[in-house]
Amino acid sequence: MGVFREIAKGAYSLLQSMSVTFRHLKTPPATVEYPAERAPISALQRNAIRLIEKEEVGGSHNCIACLQCEKICPSNCISITGYRPEGLAMKRPEKFDLNYALCSECGLCLDVCPTQTLGYTKIYDKAGYSRADFFFDLLADYRESEEEAVETLREINRKKKAEREAKRKADAEAKARKEAKAE
Ligand code: SF4
Ligand code: SF4
Repeated sequence: MGVFREIAKGAYSLLQSMSVTFRHLKTPPATVEYPAERAPISALQRNAIRLIEKEEVGGSHNCIACLQCEKICPSNCISITGYRPEGLAMKRPEKFDLNYALCSECGLCLDVCPTQTLGYTKIYDKAGYSRADFFFDLLADYRESEEEAVETLREINRKKKAEREAKRKADAEAKARKEAKAE
């Protein structure tokens, strides 16, 4: 009798656990087949930093080599040198290196950037054999288009200068008319 009771208990327990399996047969899987598939990353996730393309600079980054990110970085993992292109008041970076092996993803560099041209990459599974594999050249994607970006910035400067000049002229003319009326 005891044996039948044990078998009945075992069968009941098996059916109970199988019922869970059957209930979830049509539920879509919560996991993906990594690395062939990748789950979407939250917009808030932090990864290695990158220079963001800006429309106003013709799709290039808008780093002005102010070095604020380099100075505030607690891990000393940013290294920048700048140059001043002819006809521009602001500098542009000629070297922008990141030692991602040291980065703590604190986000301070993004917070201080005056042109909001820093963001995060979507890299979350970078692996390497040496520290050198984590040295990133953030200008690598921008070198070819640098001359074009500088020309776009020059054009913006020329337009702003022309607008300022036109406004100054209009103000002077309005003042002269006012003075002539008063006489
Ligand atoms: S996220 Fe923090 S540690 Fe990483 S580069 Fe920026 S300031 Fe440095
Ligand atoms: S803070 Fe922004 S603008 Fe200044 S050097 Fe860093 S990335 Fe460039």
